[in-house]
Amino acid sequence: MPNSNQILNDILDAREKRASLRSKFVNNERCTLSLSLNIAGYPKSNPLLLSFFNDVLSELNDYLQANRIEVEIADELKITDEAGDFFIVPFLSSLNDVEKLKKLTETFESTHILGRLIDIDIFNEKGMPISSGKKKLCYFCGEFSAVSCMRNKRHSYKDIRKKLSDEISQYLENKRKELVVNKLTSYATKAILYEISLSPKPGLVSYENSGAHTDMNFFTFLNSSASLTPFFKEFCLLGYQYSGKYEAVLGQIRQIGLRAEKAMFKATNDINTHKGIIFVFGIALFSIAKLVSEKEGYHDNGFRLITKKICKGIVANELLSTSKKAITHGEKVYEKYSMIGAGVRKEAEDGFPSIFQKALKPFDTSLNIFSYNNQNEIQQILQTALLQIMSVNNDSNILYRSNLDTLKQFQKLAKDAINNNDAYYKLCNFCIEKNISPGGSADLLSVSLLLYFVKTEQL
Ligand SMILES: [Zn+2]
Repeated sequence: MPNSNQILNDILDAREKRASLRSKFVNNERCTLSLSLNIAGYPKSNPLLLSFFNDVLSELNDYLQANRIEVEIADELKITDEAGDFFIVPFLSSLNDVEKLKKLTETFESTHILGRLIDIDIFNEKGMPISSGKKKLCYFCGEFSAVSCMRNKRHSYKDIRKKLSDEISQYLENKRKELVVNKLTSYATKAILYEISLSPKPGLVSYENSGAHTDMNFFTFLNSSASLTPFFKEFCLLGYQYSGKYEAVLGQIRQIGLRAEKAMFKATNDINTHKGIIFVFGIALFSIAKLVSEKEGYHDNGFRLITKKICKGIVANELLSTSKKAITHGEKVYEKYSMIGAGVRKEAEDGFPSIFQKALKPFDTSLNIFSYNNQNEIQQILQTALLQIMSVNNDSNILYRSNLDTLKQFQKLAKDAINNNDAYYKLCNFCIEKNISPGGSADLLSVSLLLYFVKTEQL
């Protein structure tokens, strides 16, 4: 480590270089805006401080743009040296504008949660600083001016640096959480919109027709999808912040799910469009967000492990009716068909085997499928993935409306329809004839799409 005199000299040298850089712009009669951080102690920059600096710079850029301030970004200059991280940009302006800009940047600093660390300087075209006349408060205590605390050595560098690194880490972590949760929420919404847009679908509602349903249509699903988005975000937040045991979280996921159901029924005039999705997305989004919050990030094995833990014992606990008489659809089907009728609960308890063994394959082998310029291609791949699921999934929605024989016929027809459009229409007609709707398979297609987006788009 260099000695303190050397450090001081290096910092002064770096500051001098910045001043000469600024004077170059002044020689061309340009005003300048510069950004730096008030960092006590040494080093003035490190990876954490640089990340924070870049974040502030990006926010400042948006802020200036939002306030219609045009700076010549092409001439921007960003450096990291002994004096820390620094950005300067020249611009042409009248005196009036310079003062307005100073006020705006002051507001930027004072409204930023870590604004006491941020220094935005404005110099006019003669190289004179535009001063607000206000004294900046000390970052550490916020009680006295920064200059006063520094001159009187009121706080130890060690304490200041600790607070600095804790607060910046927390700030950046919160921003990451917000970004990840927003992205995941949008992937979840995209997944259910893709599912409903696949048209036609065997027995299911699509843009073309309503399959075996008479009480809902494509627009019922759009209303429902829009109503669920805020709850998708809640599932993600719960997962991202969760630190307890997975075996104990299902109740919390369900609490959000129950509120989601109420919003859905309100949006659809009491029609059940997405109850299954609320259940599976609750578990899936929680698990994905939890994995992404950790260092390792998302991976299939981790996802399956968490979902298995969350749903451990769910089939036995929830489908064996407590009273002598089966009441819910799930209980009735389970009473009649045992494990074959255990539906989506069994799929979740086993870590979604239909998805990992079947549904994701058409996506994996057709990367870049969602290039958005070939609708038929997207349609075909979604169709293949749905058929892969249908060919193996013991859909309890089918069993509830028919019987095991019909389910077996349906699975066989689904298998035949993979890569065969004539057979696909035959399957669609079969569902209308038998009045069956494989909603469980549609839900699993949505989960597959969600996982596909998580795996292939940036988080
Ligand atoms: Zn202080």
